Amino acid sequence: MTSTVGRTLPFFPPDLFEADRETMLSALHELGTGAEQRFILGGHTAALEEALREATGAEHVVACGSGTGALELCVRALGVGPGDEVVVPAFCCQPVASSVVNVGARPVFADVDPWTMVMDPDAVEPLITERTRALMPAHVFSIMADMPRLGEIAARHGVALVEDAAVAQGAVLDGRPAGRWGDLGVFSFFQVKAFGTAGEGGVVLTDDAELARTVRMLRNHGQDGVTRFLHHRVGVNSRFDEVQAVFQLRRLAGFPERLERRARIADYYTERFEPLRDRGVLAPPAGRNGRCYYVYSLLVERREDLRAYLTEHQIGSHIYYPVPLPRQPAFSDWAPEGAQWPNSQLASDRNLAIPIWPHLTDAEVEFIADTVCEFFD
Ligand SMILES: *Cc1c(COP(=O)(O)O)cnc(C)c1O
Repeated sequence: MTSTVGRTLPFFPPDLFEADRETMLSALHELGTGAEQRFILGGHTAALEEALREATGAEHVVACGSGTGALELCVRALGVGPGDEVVVPAFCCQPVASSVVNVGARPVFADVDPWTMVMDPDAVEPLITERTRALMPAHVFSIMADMPRLGEIAARHGVALVEDAAVAQGAVLDGRPAGRWGDLGVFSFFQVKAFGTAGEGGVVLTDDAELARTVRMLRNHGQDGVTRFLHHRVGVNSRFDEVQAVFQLRRLAGFPERLERRARIADYYTERFEPLRDRGVLAPPAGRNGRCYYVYSLLVERREDLRAYLTEHQIGSHIYYPVPLPRQPAFSDWAPEGAQWPNSQLASDRNLAIPIWPHLTDAEVEFIADTVCEFFD
């Protein structure tokens, strides 16, 4: 059976960078034949950092190897180490936990909100101890975490706030951009993220000059960028690629438009799916405040059946994080015996993401919405 829109609609589109082919080829050619022969941490990386500083209003932006690398640099820059605890969401991408474990500290898993799937401030507060050094909420899929409340809790307990905005670049909550709510914030350029690239990359954002200086040093083996082979700290290699810098700089102008297209698709989906609430389908909250458009995820009671129906109609879908972090073998040492994360488990069992890429046509978006609704008729 072929879809009425004449092509299959995969969840991960193979033509994501089709329109950017020339941009990539010219970036490669320019850098490859340039006199400087500089392929990491050069002038283009600095220019991208400056452009993102302007776009977000952050005092400091430091480009690094990936979103995961960015989170690890944040944790290291805060001096988190053995004996320390960091509160992270139980339903999330694994780097929120591994970045903490990798510095010898303990991730403490907080349950998430049953609708928005982001870390629940009410679950965070009871987990704070004398050993807590930071809270690390993450925005997931299409919703920002409750940063005003989490910021208030962090301030009241005198702990740092690291904002994992890996998926939320361009989102705004109460007039303040994602990435700008914590002591440190993080974006990822992994290809399917909002401002994804054809490769790896990420940034750390902060208003704190000292933290920025430390992150800059740590990303390149603890060097200060002036004196080569002088290592002030034990750092890592999390450097940024100049080809990606040129590519991202040239694509930055089109980012707001692509994001707006994603937002409109999300608006339309939410309007169409709202009536399915009594059929066991929960769409994300409507509106634009604190919303990101990385992924459009529904919570569906009959998830496997809907997924099979969509597949039959050549519509791709995706299940994120089918196992909550404290239930992963890798993190079982940090899951207290008998502890439960019921909302995280529910999110793992019910989330289903449907395509939201900006180059879907209106007819295709309608077809996807129609097909979901048809299943419940
Ligand atoms: C993708 C992602 C990361 C990691 O970013 P990478 O660039 O893939 O390393 C971290 N946190 C969240 C919530 C993510 O979705």
